Amino acid sequence: MPRRGKPKRKPGRAAVSAPNQVAIRKAVRLDREEMLQRARARTSPWDMVIIGGGATGVGAAVDAASRGYQVLLLEQSDFGKGTSSRSTKLVHGGVRYLEQGNISLVMEALRERGILRQNAPHLVSDLAFVVPRYDWWEAPFYGVGLKIYDLLAGKYGFGASQLLSREETLARLPTIKQDGLRGGVIYYDGQFDDTRLLINLVQTAAEHGATLLNYAQVTGLKKGNDGFVAGVVARDVETGIELQANAKVVINATGPFSDSVRRMAEPEATPMIAPSQGVHLVFDHAFLPGNSAIMVPHTADGRVMFAIPWNGHTVVGTTDTAISQPSLEPRPLPEEINFILETAAQYLHHAPSRRDVLSVFVGIRPLVKGDGENTAALSRDHTIRIDNSALLTIAGGKWTTYRRMAEDCVNQAATLARLPEVPCVTLDLRIHGFEERAASPGVLARYGSDVAAIEALVKEDKSLGKPLHRALSYRGAEVVWAVRQEMARTVEDVLARRTRALFLNARAAGEMAPQVAAIMARELSQDGAWQAEQVRRFRQLAESYTIAD
Ligand SMILES: Cc1cc2nc3c(=O)[nH]c(=O)nc-3n(C[C@H](O)[C@H](O)[C@H](O)COP(=O)(O)OP(=O)(O)OC[C@H]3O[C@@H](n4cnc5c(N)ncnc54)[C@H](O)[C@@H]3O)c2cc1C
Repeated sequence: MPRRGKPKRKPGRAAVSAPNQVAIRKAVRLDREEMLQRARARTSPWDMVIIGGGATGVGAAVDAASRGYQVLLLEQSDFGKGTSSRSTKLVHGGVRYLEQGNISLVMEALRERGILRQNAPHLVSDLAFVVPRYDWWEAPFYGVGLKIYDLLAGKYGFGASQLLSREETLARLPTIKQDGLRGGVIYYDGQFDDTRLLINLVQTAAEHGATLLNYAQVTGLKKGNDGFVAGVVARDVETGIELQANAKVVINATGPFSDSVRRMAEPEATPMIAPSQGVHLVFDHAFLPGNSAIMVPHTADGRVMFAIPWNGHTVVGTTDTAISQPSLEPRPLPEEINFILETAAQYLHHAPSRRDVLSVFVGIRPLVKGDGENTAALSRDHTIRIDNSALLTIAGGKWTTYRRMAEDCVNQAATLARLPEVPCVTLDLRIHGFEERAASPGVLARYGSDVAAIEALVKEDKSLGKPLHRALSYRGAEVVWAVRQEMARTVEDVLARRTRALFLNARAAGEMAPQVAAIMARELSQDGAWQAEQVRRFRQLAESYTIAD
C-alpha cells in the first residue's frame, strides 16, 4: 500500500451520528441542479469521491455520509443503469454457495438479508421457494441442505424449510409438471425491487449530506505531486461541461467497468474482473400463479435457475456466460434464451415460447478473477484492491451484501485517506421510505413513507391517477414524483428504473413512452423536439428488450 503524507486532523469536523441510530434524516428532494452546483463550487478535497452509482457505490456513499464524511458520487449514466437494475431481485443467502461449501459467505449473506429486511421493510419481502422433487433421493438431499440453510440464518431466519407432499406442492405450484412429481421442499428467502432500493439509498445518502450526481461520467483521474490519485475529472453528460473534483481518496465502484477506471491511473494494470452475463426472461403471471417461486437446483449446465413471481409477472433466469467486454446494454445470446426456455419447459406444464416473452434483460456480474475459466465457480465474495496509484477498487459481492461491502470499503478508504476513524452506523440505519407496515397496501406500497405525498399529487390533479397502460399498474403521479423527487432525467430513467415497466413488458413500456415524455416535458420545461427524441430513443431501447418469434 502506498505511503502518503503526514496525517492531518480535520479541525471542526461535524459531530457524527451516534451508533445504533434508527431515525431517518429529514427527507430531501434529489435536485440535480443543486447537486451539480455543490460539486462545481467545491475546490477543497472531498473526503471521498466515489465513481459508480450502482449498489456498491451508492452503498458506500450511504455508509460514508452517515459516518459524517464529505462524499461526492458520480454516475456516468442513471443510478442503477449497470448491473444493479438487472438482478434476479433476490435478497438471499445463496443456496448455491452452500452447495459449493462456502459457509461463511452464506452466513454473511443471510445476516445481511435479515438486516436489509429490518432497515427497508417497505421493499424487502419474504418469498417461499419450492424445490420440486421428481427423484426419491431429492427429499433427503435437499431437505437436509435446506435445514442447514435455516440453521445458518440463526436469528435472521425467514421461516423453517420443510418437505411438501405432492398435493401440497401442486397447491403452491399449480402449473408445475405433474408427471413423476413426488413432492417438494419449501424454504424461504427475500425478494426486493433492486432499483427502488437503489434510489431510496441515493435519497438516504443525500439526507446524510452526500452529493450524488447521475449523468456525470468520470473521464480521467487527477494525480497529486506525490503521484497518487488525488481527484477526478468528469463530464456533465447533459451539458458537456467539465467538472473537476479533488479527493482524499477515490473509490472505484464501477462493477464490470472497474478495470477501465483502474487503467485511467495505471494503463498497464492487470485486469481483475472476469465479466459474465446473466439473462432473465419475463412472462405473464399466469405461467406461475400464486405467491411461491420455483428453485431448480441443477439445470443441464449444473446451475441454479429460478422462476419467481415479481410485480405481477413471472421472471425466469439466469444464465452465466463469460464475455470479453462489458457494455451498459448487454444483449442476450440466442443460446441463452433457448436454454432458459428449455429449462422452463422441463418444469412448467404449459411451456412458455418465444412469443410469450414480455421482456428480456441482461446483467453483467463483476466477478473477481480466479484461476479457472468457469465463471460460475468464481468468487461471489467482494474484493477490495488498492493499486499503487492509491486508487481503491471494490468489486464482486452481491446486492444482498452491499451494506457489508460498503462498511469494509469505507473502513479501508478512511484509513488510506487518513481520516479520523468513525464507526459504521448502517447496521440500524433506516433506509429512505422505511415503513414497517405499508400505509396503503396497494400498487404504491413500494414507495413506503412517500405514498401519501404521491397520493396527494393525484388529489391535486385527477388525471395523474389514471394507469398509463392497461397492462401495467403505473400512473402519471409516479412520473411526476420521479422527476421532482428522484432525479429522473429521461423517459428511460422513469420507465426502466423509477418504475419497472421496461423490465416487465417492453412493448407496453414503448407504448407508454409518449405519455411519460409529455408529463416529463411539463416538469422539466422541455419542448416538443425533446419529447420526440426521448420517445424515439426509448422505443429503440425497448425494441432490444423484446425477442422475435
Ligand atoms: C444476472 C444477475 C443476477 C443477479 N441476481 C442477484 C440477486 O438476485 N441478488 C443479489 O444479491 N445479487 C444479485 N446479483 C449481483 C448484483 O446485482 C451485483 O453484485 C451488483 O448489482 C453490482 O453492483 P455494482 O455497483 O458493483 O455494479 P453496477 O451496478 O454495474 O454499477 C457500476 C456503475 O458504474 C458506472 N460507471 C462505470 N464507469 C463509470 C465512469 N467512468 N464514470 C462514472 N460512472 C461509471 C456504471 O454506469 C454503473 O452504473 C446478480 C447479478 C447478475 C449479473
